[in-house]
Amino acid sequence: MTLQFFNTLSRRKEAFRPIAPPKVGLYTCGPTVYGRQHLGNYRTYIFEDLLKRVLVLNGFEARHVMNITDVGHLTSQADEGEDKMEVGSRREGKSAWDIARLYTDAFLADCRALRILPPDILCRATEHLPEQVALIERLDRKGFLYRTSDGLYYDTSRFKDYGKLAGGRAAAPARARVESNPEKKSPSDFAVWKFSPKDVKRQMEWPSPWGIGFPGWHIECSAMSMKYLGESFDIHCGGVDHIPIHHTNEIAQSEGATGKPFVRYWLHGEFLITDAGKMAKSAGGGVNMEELEARGFSPLDFRYHVFTAHYRRQLEFTWESLESSKTARRRLREMARALRGAPDKPACADYDTAFKAHLADDLNAPEALASLWECLRREDLPPGSRLTMAELAEKVFDLGLLEEEQSSPLSPELQRLFEDYRTARVKKNFATSDRLRQDLLDKGIRVFETRDGSKWERA
Ligand code: AMP
Ligand code: ZN
Repeated sequence: MTLQFFNTLSRRKEAFRPIAPPKVGLYTCGPTVYGRQHLGNYRTYIFEDLLKRVLVLNGFEARHVMNITDVGHLTSQADEGEDKMEVGSRREGKSAWDIARLYTDAFLADCRALRILPPDILCRATEHLPEQVALIERLDRKGFLYRTSDGLYYDTSRFKDYGKLAGGRAAAPARARVESNPEKKSPSDFAVWKFSPKDVKRQMEWPSPWGIGFPGWHIECSAMSMKYLGESFDIHCGGVDHIPIHHTNEIAQSEGATGKPFVRYWLHGEFLITDAGKMAKSAGGGVNMEELEARGFSPLDFRYHVFTAHYRRQLEFTWESLESSKTARRRLREMARALRGAPDKPACADYDTAFKAHLADDLNAPEALASLWECLRREDLPPGSRLTMAELAEKVFDLGLLEEEQSSPLSPELQRLFEDYRTARVKKNFATSDRLRQDLLDKGIRVFETRDGSKWERA
């Protein structure tokens, strides 16, 4: 079955033909580890996980590289503002290095809970300084860079295809911003190396041929993707917000340096949105996994929710819509589990073909999910063939459909204490609830009250 992907670069669906089949080089932009990732971020990682599993289902061998941005991502995309790591460090009174470790670990734990397969290579920007400096030197030799008082900038007018990914809309958000570095020749020019400010001691800084400082955010992805996947590779992914600036600049850097096409297929996932717009750390914080679990949802309910929309469509997030996904997953699981132990039979050919064809058609998860539902409901089909279909679906969806009920994220003892606390609150027995609150806190669980009642989080 030929895979078809919508390629942002050509703005159409294309047959997928990797450079050296069955191998596929896949790079996905990873988290900036200055705080917890929110469910919007995880929507993108789940879409990328689906892509990887569909590649494997179709006989490809994906080599997946993901970066960890632990330096250089500034609060403003236009090379202004503070490094997000320094912001996180000040906020929590920990070193930037400790913040990076803490939130990398939290990210990896969330990914495990969401059944996002780990990349083959997870690479940190701070561990790839020589590669980034070498790439900057290469660009410098080719005359792409110029120096200002605060850093080394890429002259976008020197790269003839600048903005091809965004179709002329490149760097529009940056252009619209008031620039505070008047030395930039064009608003779309961007920093590849920033100098440490003279009056401030940065926690993360390195020597370089141009002076002490730190790499820009975009250069890390160019340097690390090419290190592990070669100067031209197959697929690069991220959220749609990366199209006009981050990925546009990655192309300018990589193709500027090598003179070769950087990436063949660019795939971008649409946003998870709330009624305030894109779920974001800045706009209201975004919901994280702790809150999801504190409200009694399994991470797999959210995984199911993500598959209810095509990755190129915006997906709404409300607690009510998540509740519907939870109910749907539970129902699907009941149907699938009722088939366990049925005699082995091949999947019904029609459903098997439809399921795979939907996924091959630009990862149409909602349609594939609909095929699964339809097949499991068909009581006239042999249970064994429906079971085989459920097993096939689990290879890509991995929703725990055939497994035991997930235990509560709390241990039985803590769950009991929490229930006692909740009951005491409801009965307004505050002496007891205060004692239980402290008891739980001593055991690492912080309880709090919301409009929907008592909730908990890990302290
Ligand atoms: P960041 O940690 O900000 O670099 O973001 C990590 C990934 O999450 C990137 O691929 C973003 O494009 C993606 N992302 C951020 N916000 C959302 C959202 N609301 N919905 C879907 N993806 C998002
Ligand atoms: Zn990136």
